[in-house]
Amino acid sequence: MDEMKEKLFYQQKNGYDIIGPEERLALEDYARRYMAYLDAARTEREAVAQAVKLAQAAGFKPLGEGPIRPGEKVYFDNRGKSLLLAVGGKKPMCEGFVVEAAHVDSPRLDVKQNPLFEDTELGYFRTHYYGGIKKYQWAAIPLEMHGVAALKDGTTVEIVIGRDGADPQFVVTDLLPHLATDQMGKTMAKGIEGEKLCILMGSVPYAGEGSDRVKLAVMSLLNDRYGITEADLISAELEIVPAFDVRELGLDRSMIGGYGQDDRVCAFAELAAILETEAPERTAVCILADKEEIGSVGVSGMRSQNFEWFIGKLCGDTCAVQESFSKSFCVSADVTAAFDPMYPEVSEKQNAARLNYGVGFCKFTGSRGKSGASDASAELVAYMRRICDEAGVVWQMCELGKVDQGGGGTVAGFMADRDIDTIDAGVPVLSMHAPFETTSKLDCYMTYKCMKAAYNG
Ligand code: MN
Ligand code: MN
Repeated sequence: MDEMKEKLFYQQKNGYDIIGPEERLALEDYARRYMAYLDAARTEREAVAQAVKLAQAAGFKPLGEGPIRPGEKVYFDNRGKSLLLAVGGKKPMCEGFVVEAAHVDSPRLDVKQNPLFEDTELGYFRTHYYGGIKKYQWAAIPLEMHGVAALKDGTTVEIVIGRDGADPQFVVTDLLPHLATDQMGKTMAKGIEGEKLCILMGSVPYAGEGSDRVKLAVMSLLNDRYGITEADLISAELEIVPAFDVRELGLDRSMIGGYGQDDRVCAFAELAAILETEAPERTAVCILADKEEIGSVGVSGMRSQNFEWFIGKLCGDTCAVQESFSKSFCVSADVTAAFDPMYPEVSEKQNAARLNYGVGFCKFTGSRGKSGASDASAELVAYMRRICDEAGVVWQMCELGKVDQGGGGTVAGFMADRDIDTIDAGVPVLSMHAPFETTSKLDCYMTYKCMKAAYNG
């Protein structure tokens, strides 16, 4: 009977029961590289800047006129917020390309355009949260400020406060339990409301008499450090992000804790894969997109025609972009929810992604009857099974949450809309969208292997 089961049943194994000692070392080495990237990439702009540095070191050159030549390595930095890279394939663009698309924006608190105020001699910045957050998670944790202020003269000032050990950090205050009777009676959605997510900026009044002296002192410190005035904040993009370092988690150090792993964990996987891709059959394209968390909108989001423009450059006069799209294959590289034994009720265990079971393929995403999903074809899933099995990738098939529990989306639909065969694949995450997200090193490494296999498939 066991023989029959072995032959006929789909049996999943923990990745650590599959891989050998050599792969354990490769996995640790990859995790170190990923953690260093994540630590330095706290915003979409920083994620792009770090990626450009790595690409240049690997011999990638700014995109020129096409068509792309076999083995040629190019990149295009889209306004410092999204990045496209390509390695020319042996086959021409009219036979299609392999694209892997991840996003580098993450949920955070964005500083408002007119943010600074003083109340009871404390100075604050008002914020408007970005993406899907549980607001209560952002109070009473250390925060940093990263971003830019664009000035009227056309120059841009880079602002980073809190990353350097000598820097101060910031906080959103919360109510003490002693006085929180009313607050504790509210739902978690209402416990801390959006307009209460104000950043404490300072408390010392400017010397002298009059009103708004703390506000003046805060503005004066910003002026000393960056030369900016309150009006310059109108044209600033300042992102408030958690100040936690990226760390190994668990006694066995098998997991990674850090902010922004959705989706910089997949962004790094496909980036590392394309940097090691030399002469693929079909041209390899890697996208680090922006604005996924708010609907892939805008010039740097995946719905932007910037992608068509980039592929047009790679095609040159050899092929129409739409022709190339119709023969292409896309891995929408985004994270999925890992099964959490503390919250089993939201998942259907048989189809939930598990930590250490490898990269998770999602045939579909969406919610309530697959609504809004890009449902990958059976043929495409079979293709992924084959290339991953041939490359020794530990993978699992998964679904985000049980039926009618909720759901989510990725850039997959926007790629499929372009007539590109698309499947979702990525790293299972615990506490997704929290200020401190958890992944497993093995799953991160297997996602990188999967991305490599797809480029070489
Ligand atoms: Mn994501
Ligand atoms: Mn997300």
